[in-house]
Amino acid sequence: MAHPVTLFWHRRDLRIEDNRGLHAALESGHPVQPVFIFDTNILAHLPEKDGRVEFIHQELNRLRAEYQAHGADLLVLHGKPEDLWPQLLERFQVKTVWCNRDYEPYAQTRDQAVHTLLEERGIPFKGAKDHVIFEKNEVTKDDGLPYTVFTPYMRKWKKRWEEDPQLPCPSESLLDHLHPTDPYTCPTLADLGFAPSGLEFPKREVSNDLLRQYGDRRDLPAVRGTSRLSLHLRFGTVSIRACVQQALATSEKWWNELIWRDFYQMIIFHFPHSVDQAFKPAYDHIPWRTDQDHFEAWCEGRTGYPLVDAGMRELNRTGFMHNRVRMVVASFFTKHLLLDWRLGERYFAEKLLDFELASNVGGWQWAAGSGCDAAPYFRVFNPESQWKKFDPDSRYVRKWVPEYQQLHYPKPIVDHKFARQRAIDTYKAALDAVKS
Ligand code: FAD
Repeated sequence: MAHPVTLFWHRRDLRIEDNRGLHAALESGHPVQPVFIFDTNILAHLPEKDGRVEFIHQELNRLRAEYQAHGADLLVLHGKPEDLWPQLLERFQVKTVWCNRDYEPYAQTRDQAVHTLLEERGIPFKGAKDHVIFEKNEVTKDDGLPYTVFTPYMRKWKKRWEEDPQLPCPSESLLDHLHPTDPYTCPTLADLGFAPSGLEFPKREVSNDLLRQYGDRRDLPAVRGTSRLSLHLRFGTVSIRACVQQALATSEKWWNELIWRDFYQMIIFHFPHSVDQAFKPAYDHIPWRTDQDHFEAWCEGRTGYPLVDAGMRELNRTGFMHNRVRMVVASFFTKHLLLDWRLGERYFAEKLLDFELASNVGGWQWAAGSGCDAAPYFRVFNPESQWKKFDPDSRYVRKWVPEYQQLHYPKPIVDHKFARQRAIDTYKAALDAVKS
């Protein structure tokens, strides 16, 4: 049998530099064979032109070239992890398996199954913290319970940071500890059953200049005022520790946004039910409307509210939507249209390149009022005043809804005043009924 190796399993950490799990594997004393699995349990539910699969494929090719420059290669497999792991154990003499921890419910179940399999064979399965700065139980209230409100969480997070700053690790300096091999064959996008999406992927970096102006420009959708790193943070093509270093040098506001990301990862770990149930159970009693016409008008950007329509068309065309507009369209969906937040959340999940279950559910439940630290239900965004405030010269709206002043542009599908009152009355009645 071949020499003993340590396997490193790449998942949402598609980079060599500052990769904590990889670093630990490279220090394990055995040559390291990196592995990636295109998981058919996940791929089976995605459309043929899914930009995320294309992006991952592209980034794996970059990673492979980096590994190959060191006489090694990334082994890329396609199938169900539960079927592929026994095969990997046949193929290599595996001493240890390292990965970076993933906090989503599916990943937890998958990793538990792999853990059991490895344990039966006496092989340790080790996880490192890499995807977040502080995880699960590292930032808790004084009584040890998880925070459910952001501001005190953020304060405690920053205190922890002062005590224990999480600095980048030099994983890229240990690449002579890789398992030497000739290149492997890697499935093409077509082999995986996918085709190019035609979407453009944002750059892997953001300038200090942009971040220095972040506080003033982050809410203006017509301006390139935010980092556009969300896709890279989602798949770990940039490191969160490197981002925090850059934030410290440029913008406290941007730093705070990175902490929101940790917050939602912590919430999904402790409250996995919030993936498809209201974080505050009383909100599961709201009688959401069923209205296919309104749902489709929202999806397609035909609501007659220019800012909402601009956001939805940006999403459909690019796989991205500006944060301010995400808040407006999600609020419109749950309050003006009184549609179930889960349907909107699923639509975003299908379309967003940066879809991240924890942040998406967090953002949607925030808008619906049902989440932790959510907007109170009686605060209903006015899509017209949001437009005037954040897109004052209509540059964003003109880009995505050029016909907004023309006769054939649809009339609003609901009247704002009527819809606002209907939302408040419906929420109030449902929440009062639960209390009594
Ligand atoms: P920047 O403003 O440059 O922020 C930097 C990074 O901080 C982001 O890339 C992201 O990783 C993190 N971040 C910023 N804001 C938030 C936030 N409110 N919550 C959690 N992390 C944040 N973000 C996702 O990454 N995936 C999602 O699926 C997602 N769904 C959302 C759904 C709704 C309804 C709302 C209101 C927000 C959602 N967000 C989501 C948060 C936010 O809109 C995006 O992270 C942001 O727009 C990405 O653009 P950026 O990289 O330029 O962000």
